[in-house]
Amino acid sequence: MKAVKVLEPFKIDIIEIDMPKIENEYDVIVKVTSGGICGSDMGIWNGTNSLATYPRIIGHEFGGVVNEIGSGVKNVKIGDRVAVDPIVSCGHCYACTIGRHNVCSTLEVMGVHRDGGFTEYVKVPEKNIHKFHIDFDESLLGLVEPFTIGMQINNRLQTQKDERMLIMGSGPIGICAMQVAKSRGVKVLMTDIVMERLEKAKDMGADEIVLTTKDNLNDRINKFTNGEGMPIVLDTVCIPETFEESISYASPAGRVAVIGLKNKPSNIVMADITKKELTIVGSRLNCNCFDEVIEGFETKKLNPEKLKTKEFNFMDARAAIDAIEKYPQNILKVVLKFE
Ligand code: MN
Ligand code: ZN
Repeated sequence: MKAVKVLEPFKIDIIEIDMPKIENEYDVIVKVTSGGICGSDMGIWNGTNSLATYPRIIGHEFGGVVNEIGSGVKNVKIGDRVAVDPIVSCGHCYACTIGRHNVCSTLEVMGVHRDGGFTEYVKVPEKNIHKFHIDFDESLLGLVEPFTIGMQINNRLQTQKDERMLIMGSGPIGICAMQVAKSRGVKVLMTDIVMERLEKAKDMGADEIVLTTKDNLNDRINKFTNGEGMPIVLDTVCIPETFEESISYASPAGRVAVIGLKNKPSNIVMADITKKELTIVGSRLNCNCFDEVIEGFETKKLNPEKLKTKEFNFMDARAAIDAIEKYPQNILKVVLKFE
């Protein structure tokens, strides 16, 4: 069978590997149908993902159809459509014991720290498998994971009905977080520096959009919140400057989510946090969000169709990467199909 492997930065290949075999009773072998290409995959491709090691079979956003199960597997059967949670955790560190395995002290993510899902068949433990209950478009199974990121952010921020939220950046994560927020009745204002992206965000459910190269965001926030400032702020741009801005846009008693993995410092002074008594939360990957996202897909509260911009066969992974590099503004999610 074939797999998509990044051998070293800027070197990607379709390689031949052995079919996975059931080795333990809780193993499940999934015939992958689709995967989403993420910014972090692009980082593995271009050498800027500090977490990645090489060579690596990439892919942490993937799903497919159950092909084979171990003798102890109870929750899925052959033929089920499933999405795979790529998180591998130890089960006994502090974070794991309090139910937050997504920040396990020895966390590994399939497709980043270990081989991932851009392969024709993949073996995963039953606990990482989450099934659909209806016939669902197989090209969208790989898009559950990015929505779990958006759901985790909303869970960490404890977003609630009728609250107002600023999402800086209208890329895939901003849009996923927005859709989850909207499904909870939150009013969302989104920003970007590219109008096409904002139009897409509006089309997918954002209440208000702000082109920050043209409009004054501060004024728009004041209008949106009656001069209060933003109770909930999410920065998906994730550069030191936007982290600083997210602190300044937050209202007194506001909550701010941080999702970036950059190591560069920001200039934030203590007083800005103390005076407003801000709650600043990190949000990483997802913690048990798969089933709720799948339910959102099935009930159409969440809309992965519009997140998918383009499809490529996995054999053309290189062309898919080129397309993302060439037209980053026009692309939300590129889906690889494995049929
Ligand atoms: Mn991703
Ligand atoms: Zn752990």
